[in-house]
Amino acid sequence: MGTDIVLVAGAVLLGLCVGSFLNVCILRLPRDESLMRPRSTCPHCKQPIAWRDNIPVFSWLWLRGKCRWCRNPISKQYPLIEALVGVLFGASLLAYGMTLHAVAAALLGTLLLGIAITDARHYIIPDEFTWGGLVIGLLLALGGGVNGFLQALLGAAVGFVLLWLVGMAGTWVFKEEAMGGGDVKMMAMVGSFVGWRACCSLCSPAPRWARSFSSRCRSRRSDSCRSGYSSRWVRSWRSCSVMRSLPGTGIFSRAIKSDG
Ligand SMILES: [Zn+2]
Repeated sequence: MGTDIVLVAGAVLLGLCVGSFLNVCILRLPRDESLMRPRSTCPHCKQPIAWRDNIPVFSWLWLRGKCRWCRNPISKQYPLIEALVGVLFGASLLAYGMTLHAVAAALLGTLLLGIAITDARHYIIPDEFTWGGLVIGLLLALGGGVNGFLQALLGAAVGFVLLWLVGMAGTWVFKEEAMGGGDVKMMAMVGSFVGWRACCSLCSPAPRWARSFSSRCRSRRSDSCRSGYSSRWVRSWRSCSVMRSLPGTGIFSRAIKSDG
């Protein structure tokens, strides 16, 4: 389909920068800190990180994963997330061309990645990802006119209600809270991107069981469970399972009816 190699490279570079911003979100949103200031510092020696040491992926490789000043290691998570989002942006452009679909795919993937990691690390899904993502999903759907917008709105409503019902059923079966509010909001956000039909197939049994299981761990708040690696991975798999099931749902074909 002849997407220009320069365009793909541009998309990857943009993705690297968005990934760098996603790192800031993952670090600061759970702590309710501003995303803009103060400037990023080394967690060990508190030296501000200069722009030349803040170039996505390349700076980390150049400094061999160590702080320029104190030589303490810098987490691999930073370059990994930057690279992942870069690949995601490039792949979205290759899959959908220069369309709103590509923008939606790239942003939804970025949001889900942020949710997966924040959820695995802090057991919360920040509203900025869910409500903020919902607004982005609805705005992008405007590209498909009034009908596209209504489809996205319906998708959000179905996602919200469907997961809320699953949560209620889980609570009834397990006799304890089976679904957090963040999960329900996340599904509303996903619904605004993929439309109601895809939303229904995303709430298929496999991810649902993972959600119930992991939420049961969370609601118990037992230390063994909270610190347990297995439950951590089940939790992040929960968000990943949504990501994994996305390609099979005819993603974006309903919510966004722009041509391209
Ligand atoms: Zn340092």
